[in-house]
Amino acid sequence: MGQALGLLKSWVTSANAPGHPFPLNNLPCGVFSTGEEEPRCGVAIGDFVLDVAALEEEGLLSLAGGPFLDVPFWNDLMEAGAEVWAVLRAQLTVLLAEGSNDQAAVEPHLAPLAKVDLHLPFLVSEYTDFYAGRHHATNVGTMFRGAENALPPNWLHIPIGYNGRASSVVVSGTPVRRPWGQVKGPDHAVPAFQRSRRFDIELEMGAVVGTPSDGPVTVAEADAMIFGYVLLNDWSARDIQAWEYQPLGPFQAKATATTISPWIVMKAALEPFRTSTPARAIDLLPHLQEPGPMLYDIALEVGLTPEGGVETVISRTNYAEMYYSAAQQLAHHTTSGCPMNTGDLLGSGTISGPTKDSRGSLLELSWGGKEPIAVGNGTRTFIEDNDTLTLRGQCKGDGYTIGFGDCVGQVIPALPDPYARS
Ligand code: MN
Repeated sequence: MGQALGLLKSWVTSANAPGHPFPLNNLPCGVFSTGEEEPRCGVAIGDFVLDVAALEEEGLLSLAGGPFLDVPFWNDLMEAGAEVWAVLRAQLTVLLAEGSNDQAAVEPHLAPLAKVDLHLPFLVSEYTDFYAGRHHATNVGTMFRGAENALPPNWLHIPIGYNGRASSVVVSGTPVRRPWGQVKGPDHAVPAFQRSRRFDIELEMGAVVGTPSDGPVTVAEADAMIFGYVLLNDWSARDIQAWEYQPLGPFQAKATATTISPWIVMKAALEPFRTSTPARAIDLLPHLQEPGPMLYDIALEVGLTPEGGVETVISRTNYAEMYYSAAQQLAHHTTSGCPMNTGDLLGSGTISGPTKDSRGSLLELSWGGKEPIAVGNGTRTFIEDNDTLTLRGQCKGDGYTIGFGDCVGQVIPALPDPYARS
């Protein structure tokens, strides 16, 4: 499909409303259930989710090699490859377009979004998180190591990453329990095991790998492997992280939970919003250079809502601030021969902009806890119990919006000491 020119009108009239996150141009992929029914694949259109599993079963969708959709994950469709992805979008676009001959057959398979439960949209094979935002790396490096040593010497040459835990990835809406962990003790004292007092968010995008690789791939090949993108909150315990991170990087600080938004926005829906990474400070080696624009212009924001209070937007930034694209990260990931699989999730790294109000973590917003920020009638340095954090993202097209479903998590109080014995 080429680039969409303006709003594609649908007979699902709510999808045509100005600013609606799910117009016909979007068609994001989720997994839903209603009542006691088994979860299955669905696509958001306007205020509804379309039961694409039922459409495939009835032959209204005809995908070579299928069926792919009567399962509680998109992995089978993702693995089928880019031609099948394009056929699915083309068929859905015809079925849902204003004036479609199939409206009467399709309409019974719409369920109001307000009445469905949303689940993880794909089986997360493995999860890798990067550290690829220059403003974020500079801010954090300055706090941890001083301004002169802010960026490690490799930073401008490779997208730095670590292997995270797929088991910790949860869908939006899942409560996140404040962790316990070992933290640095006061001067020369033994470390302490305690509830994290510096629990934080990281505003990120997640790239979802669609087709696998076996051996090194180019940046262009990596881009072609990516099925779509989600919002991602990499919950981070800064006090645990500060003690444990040298020399192998974060471990337990990042293992409590990673929340993703419930809809995968397919790469095809994002095509009109492609943009280039910022100018290179130092030329990359050829195998990591981008052959074309591989970032996206996605406006992002973070809201913090205290228990029983109203939300304050604490950050506004854009995915285009990243120094490395997901395609570059994925290509780098394969250079050693590391096989990549359908369902692998790549976190972009925290997305901070150049200004104070565009920082993507509380660590940066409060400058290590030294500069509390205003939230409602109070202030915050780090997350307090029962705070709800909401990540939002959208692309503004010519007369339409491509929305990502909200990525929401409430932090609930830590359990009693898990090792205490009565
Ligand atoms: Mn992160």
